[in-house]
Amino acid sequence: MGKLEEYEKKRDKKKTPEPFGGKSHKEPIFVIQKHDASNLHYDLRLEKGGVLKSWAVPKKPPKQAGTKRLAVQTEDHPLGYASFEGKIPEGEYGAGTVELWDRGKLEIKEWKEGKKIEFALKGDKLDGTYFLVKFDKGGETAWLFFKKKEN
Ligand code: MN
Repeated sequence: MGKLEEYEKKRDKKKTPEPFGGKSHKEPIFVIQKHDASNLHYDLRLEKGGVLKSWAVPKKPPKQAGTKRLAVQTEDHPLGYASFEGKIPEGEYGAGTVELWDRGKLEIKEWKEGKKIEFALKGDKLDGTYFLVKFDKGGETAWLFFKKKEN
């Protein structure tokens, strides 16, 4: 079962302008896309293992420490998505406008699969060490996304 099977199952190549391929970057990247879908949200994507691991963040990602954001993990996206901007047509999965909000270098410091991820971002808006920490939200799985306090 391919890593991108879920991504491909949800989309019709003939109907959406979204990418279905893409190559690894010389150095791993992160990207955050502002997605004006049925609910406006921010999609955080981290390059790992040949895909973009992805989370939907309903509120603006924090530039400073002290703000924790809810994040919901979504299906892995193809690497080509890192430069995607455009309009997903009405009636298609994720219909709405996608624009790049931030992008830059990613350094994964610790990846405890399905538990806790520590990573450094070097983008135009986000710069510093961040965490994604999984928690149980009333029987549902969610994550907290926040910036590490610098000393
Ligand atoms: Mn989205």
